[in-house]
Amino acid sequence: MVANQCQHCGLFFKYEEMDTYTPFGCSSYDPPEPLDPINICKKCSDKLKHDFLNRFRNEEYKYGDWQKSKAERDAAKECGLVWVNGAQNVEYNGHRAFFEYVPKKVFNRSAG
Ligand SMILES: [Zn+2]
Repeated sequence: MVANQCQHCGLFFKYEEMDTYTPFGCSSYDPPEPLDPINICKKCSDKLKHDFLNRFRNEEYKYGDWQKSKAERDAAKECGLVWVNGAQNVEYNGHRAFFEYVPKKVFNRSAG
């Protein structure tokens, strides 16, 4: 897969205009190898951001990519969310947050 082809719509764009993300998961388990980055165009990145915003506004904070796209980071920022990978010991909704977003004020209270 060439880096300047959008893997969502299949069209070609300038490399500088691409957004990229890497989902959680493995492409191989023996030995384990992370999935390859997925490159997407500006238009598909905007759509992805829109999808993230919809989820975040419905308080679905559980999903995020391993290597985050600009779309995901921008959406989280707009919604005032912080990604917690479990190392920060943040309590949220009665459990320890683990690979999920939490509202910034929750994060600051727990981690501060
Ligand atoms: Zn595209």
